[in-house]
Amino acid sequence: MGETGALGIFGGTFDPIHLGHLRLAEEAREALGLAQVRLIPSGRPPHREAPGSSAEDRLAMAHLAVAGNPALAVDDGEVRAPQTSYTILTLERLRGELGPTQSLVLLLGADAFEGLPTWHRWTELFELAHIAVANRPGFAPHGRRWPAVLSPALEAACHHRLATPPALTASPAGRVVAFDMTPLAISASDIRARIRAGSSARYLLPQGVLDYIQTHHLYR
Ligand code: ATP
Repeated sequence: MGETGALGIFGGTFDPIHLGHLRLAEEAREALGLAQVRLIPSGRPPHREAPGSSAEDRLAMAHLAVAGNPALAVDDGEVRAPQTSYTILTLERLRGELGPTQSLVLLLGADAFEGLPTWHRWTELFELAHIAVANRPGFAPHGRRWPAVLSPALEAACHHRLATPPALTASPAGRVVAFDMTPLAISASDIRARIRAGSSARYLLPQGVLDYIQTHHLYR
């Protein structure tokens, strides 16, 4: 483990960042004993349509959201990079910056985890980081909770890696853990839809982020 403790890496479109994202980061930090969580807004996400707001706006909203909490930081590497935002490239960059012994923990919601086999060079992710999966409401079919049901490819990649949180500080990469988070059925798409409809999105996201959205006329 690095001298400063395990570092959480949490990527997303954050269009906009909301309390589901922030609770995931906060509860991961606590449950997994992370020294810090870095939120990494994607510049050009490969899996979805162009975001409803610019990378600069999403970055600015992420900074507003973490202000005052030294345990959460924002990394602008994907927004600044010229190429498509692939997590494998970000992890390679962080490994280069932080060295081979630093424990890195990639944080994923359960829905993102299920889609992992569609990610660029996904099997290499395990060589660069641990993976920690938050149980997200609505993504546990038939009341079962991860890791009860995985696709065969994901199952094959993960079954020998399953571990409990203490394992994350004992090595730099390669283990897979699950952690519980407070169920918050908040999504960025729902927030965008509310704003477009002129409805209230208050208390679903930090007030500073909502103020930014209103000042900059986003998602109208
Ligand atoms: P959208 O509704 O636009 O698809 P989103 O709210 O799912 O967006 P993303 O930026 O796509 O947000 O998600 C980034 C990460 O945060 C993903 O790993 C996702 O699983 C996780 N996540 C998003 N919302 C929640 C939530 N309410 N609870 C737990 N995890 C969440």
